Amino acid sequence: MLNPILLSAPSFEGNEELYISKVLATPYIAAGGDFLNEFELALANHVHPKKVVGLNSGTSAIHLGLKLLGVQPGDHVICQSFTFCASANPIVYLGANPIFIDSEPQTWNMCPDALQSALIQLDKKGELPKAIIVVDLFGMPAKYDEILDIARNYGIPVLEDAAESMGSSYKNQPCGSFGDLGVFSFNGNKIITTGGGGALISNDMELLNRSRKLASQAREEVHYFEHTEIGYNYRLGNIQAAIGKAQIEGIKEKIAGRRHVFLRYQKALGGLSGISFLDEPEGAFSNRWLTTIRINPSLAGFDKDRLRLSLQENHIESRFVWKPLHLQKSFQGFKYFGGEIAANIFDQSLCLPSSPQLQDEEIERVVSVIRNLVDKSKSHV
Ligand SMILES: *Cc1c(COP(=O)(O)O)cnc(C)c1O
Repeated sequence: MLNPILLSAPSFEGNEELYISKVLATPYIAAGGDFLNEFELALANHVHPKKVVGLNSGTSAIHLGLKLLGVQPGDHVICQSFTFCASANPIVYLGANPIFIDSEPQTWNMCPDALQSALIQLDKKGELPKAIIVVDLFGMPAKYDEILDIARNYGIPVLEDAAESMGSSYKNQPCGSFGDLGVFSFNGNKIITTGGGGALISNDMELLNRSRKLASQAREEVHYFEHTEIGYNYRLGNIQAAIGKAQIEGIKEKIAGRRHVFLRYQKALGGLSGISFLDEPEGAFSNRWLTTIRINPSLAGFDKDRLRLSLQENHIESRFVWKPLHLQKSFQGFKYFGGEIAANIFDQSLCLPSSPQLQDEEIERVVSVIRNLVDKSKSHV
């Protein structure tokens, strides 16, 4: 049997084991420890000049971030519709209402025009949002020049969900650093992983200190357990941080690997009728977290479902792109501004295996399954 090819497998090729064993030789295995400090410094260095707090997931980072921006029950928060549910779930945790915005076709991220027209209409009703959550989906930076201009005009803070875009950049500025707050995720299949983990990014030291406190059960800095507000247990542990430090040391190679995978797919398949890949717009650098292939079934002669099954028959894992949140039952009843762009991308697209350690022969196996489908559908015309 052929080896299975996974969608996005982690790679541990650096100091992971060494650093874990160093932590285990100390009593400091939970939150608070040298590796947590060192990992936070390495992350801050990555998004320089901003600063970073390590948390136990990207989801908790978004939750804390929205809380720090003052989101309260009954408030409104704008979020890109085309994203993973974790971008918007924390809005609901806080009792606030998500308002979803469509994508634009070039980056698949929040459409600045749809955002502008939403804000005009919400303003008239006195329903301006407390925050705007922008996502860099699959590693592609959003259109920050336009989006940040619009947000600034209304004085609304931006939270950048960079869970998928660590190491990407736009006009040489790193993703994660565009909003008033930024979020990374270190879940199992992200660019770097700590098994589970996340981070909150900001310029505002006071805000970050508050997030550190809230993430540690809102414990006051006194020698007994004193609490003046309700907190969370959201800090990153020292073992996770040790893995994270080793991972971030290898981030260049991981991104180079994923970009190599993307380029091989694009070169081999990009010229075929009805098949397209997402180009980087001028100024954008994508980490190519996951390579997405878009199939126009009337031109290609097959659709994304057919392709997923053919890949599966060949022991190759692929996955549909995120289903837009305004189409999810869990978010029924919330407002949506835009058209059918995100919905059409969802109907036509698939994520291909994108692990950085994928061998050229393995990429070729994926390519040949797709070429076979193209050939078969041609012979039917
Ligand atoms: C993975 C992901 C998250 C959530 O991060 P976790 O660390 O899994 O909680 C949030 N937003 C996006 C876009 C993601 O891909």
